[in-house]
Amino acid sequence: MTSIQQNIEQITSQIEGAQQKCGRGRDTVQLLAVSKTKPVEAILEAAQAGQVRFGENYVQEGTDKVAYFSQHHPELGLEWHFIGPIQSNKSRHVAENFAWVHTVDRAKIAKRLSEQRPQDLQPLQVLIQVNTSGELSKSGINENEIFELAELISTLPNLTLRGLMSIPANVSDYASQLAAFTQLAELKEKLAERFPEQNIDTLSMGMSGDMQAAIEAGSTMVRIGTAIFGARDYTNKA
Ligand SMILES: *Cc1c(COP(=O)(O)O)cnc(C)c1O
Repeated sequence: MTSIQQNIEQITSQIEGAQQKCGRGRDTVQLLAVSKTKPVEAILEAAQAGQVRFGENYVQEGTDKVAYFSQHHPELGLEWHFIGPIQSNKSRHVAENFAWVHTVDRAKIAKRLSEQRPQDLQPLQVLIQVNTSGELSKSGINENEIFELAELISTLPNLTLRGLMSIPANVSDYASQLAAFTQLAELKEKLAERFPEQNIDTLSMGMSGDMQAAIEAGSTMVRIGTAIFGARDYTNKA
């Protein structure tokens, strides 16, 4: 077994442990392996350990990897999630190549993704990104804006709204992490009540450094990079 495969086993058992500790059912939290900057060989190792969902942040790099695996390893059935910022001039590549997008934060992007989604693919599964800088209430996050964007997405034919995503401020104390995640979880419950006809079941929150708190607060998808693939090298990135 390679070290990447050992890391996946370890994270998987940490997720199971966290689920158990807070009385959540088995398999209620999915693992998204964040493979940005990592080569296809590393992704292949993870996939051979049974990992199916991968997250990418950069449009060109992500699109290249999607193409590589659909050409060389279609049997793996990998599921690709876009988790980086989306510029409108690159939205087409996102719409054409990914199954999920976690970072929808404005109407213009939502409309473009729906228009550009190829008709022969399933609707794009989308999350609204909520920027929580520590305490949601202090960061000026406006619930109405989120609900307005959700309202729009619910009318777009080629998008399916699945929930919320956040990247909270990088704080190390557990109580602050838990507070920020809990606010997002409450917002997601409100959203689900407001849009009962949508399948709002996803909370994408928790990374290598704050996964436990995210799971306790109700995360359904943790996004883990470093703890699986090791530290990232950005020297070749603009
Ligand atoms: C890079 C990244 C991650 C993974 O972070 P790690 O700390 O390496 O686990 C998760 N989510 C987003 C949006 C990222 O950009």
